[in-house]
Amino acid sequence: MKKAAIISVGNELLNGNTVDTNSNWLESRLLTISIPVVYSCAIIDDIEEIKNAIEYASRKANIILITGGLGPTDDDITRDGIAKFLNVELEYHPEIFKKMENFFLSINRPLVEKNRIQAYLPVGASEIENDLGTAPGIFYQDDQKIIASFPGVPSEMKQMFDKSIFPKLQSLSADNLVIKKIKCIGAGESMIAEMIGDMMDRGRNPLINCTVDHGIITLHIIARAKDRKIAEDMAVKDTEKLQHILGPLIFGYDNQTIAEVAGQKLAEKKKTLATAESCTGGQISKMITDVPGSSRYFTYGWITYSNEAKISQLGVDKKLIEQFGAVSSEVATAMAIGARKKAGSDYAIAVTGIAGPEGGTEQKPVGLVYISIVGPNSVKTEKFLFGSRNRDFIRLRTCQVALNLLRLNLSI
Ligand code: ATP
Repeated sequence: MKKAAIISVGNELLNGNTVDTNSNWLESRLLTISIPVVYSCAIIDDIEEIKNAIEYASRKANIILITGGLGPTDDDITRDGIAKFLNVELEYHPEIFKKMENFFLSINRPLVEKNRIQAYLPVGASEIENDLGTAPGIFYQDDQKIIASFPGVPSEMKQMFDKSIFPKLQSLSADNLVIKKIKCIGAGESMIAEMIGDMMDRGRNPLINCTVDHGIITLHIIARAKDRKIAEDMAVKDTEKLQHILGPLIFGYDNQTIAEVAGQKLAEKKKTLATAESCTGGQISKMITDVPGSSRYFTYGWITYSNEAKISQLGVDKKLIEQFGAVSSEVATAMAIGARKKAGSDYAIAVTGIAGPEGGTEQKPVGLVYISIVGPNSVKTEKFLFGSRNRDFIRLRTCQVALNLLRLNLSI
């Protein structure tokens, strides 16, 4: 059975400066080809530490993936660590150096002598080509193990892994794994688990796992079979079952965002949208415009944080604010109606709330948010209590829920 270990090299990973995202990415790529990661560690830039880590990993796994420490500076010593583990010298490869010369020429920057070290590989190892940078990766294989070492820069590592190593590892894997993600909003994890029932039984194939992120529940359907087509059919069958059970709680699939799905609906219906945000400070507009092609439907966005801005920019009646307060159903509705009118759009979203940590009262606690969606034939304003958690949480939940209300409105 193939098992993998991941070693992340770099002082910056152990002093709080860089979060190790490389191992996480590699783990999820390996999962798609059924290779379990049995060991993962982060270590400092030290030849002995690198050698020891490879030694330890090779006792647990037969595929060892290393990231970081392949650059030209003195602290880049992963190649030395690998050579020490293999008990070999480093060997100069003039063809690698030539490629580096050409790379520097293409970006119009001088190649310095320090770069020459990157043309050295442990004897018996070969180069993993790096199309995005100067540091080549290192590949070594014998009867017992594979060692593949990549630069730390995530974009370079990902491209090199997918192009050169993933296909090699894929051909070693006996089973085919198909993973489909179903994304839900509007019910908690336990409620969804209850609705799904024994489909979440451990040991079932497909296996259904559940993750939660700011109110978004993702169900991962992992189907395993010798034949890829069979695994795909199993995943599709489970997707259909879940669609039947969860209905409108499902907003999207795989990596779709709620803004993307709501945007797609606007584009399909050839409708436009404006936003008027208070407590979210422009975050809803950002999420909408993060989606390429959003200019087809997004028109205007206002951040009306002060009462004056709500009155002067959106035409909210001053008396409404005096009577009900800026955080009220009446003001949220007036903001949405005002934004829709001023922008001349088909739909408008407005939000007003108390994101905290200060500013809450007994009647209007931190986490109280009003969201209004106004369309050609409807005005819908809802009150939410997101609890007195942290400010980021309340703001992000507000954005997700507002975009979901728009999606549901557009589904009618
Ligand atoms: P190069 O010198 O060509 O940049 P390298 O292999 O020497 O490549 P490092 O110096 O180890 O790479 O890391 C380069 C950058 O990549 C670091 O500054 C860090 O931001 C990022 N990085 C390194 N390791 C990781 C990791 N495990 N997860 C996420 N980012 C990482």
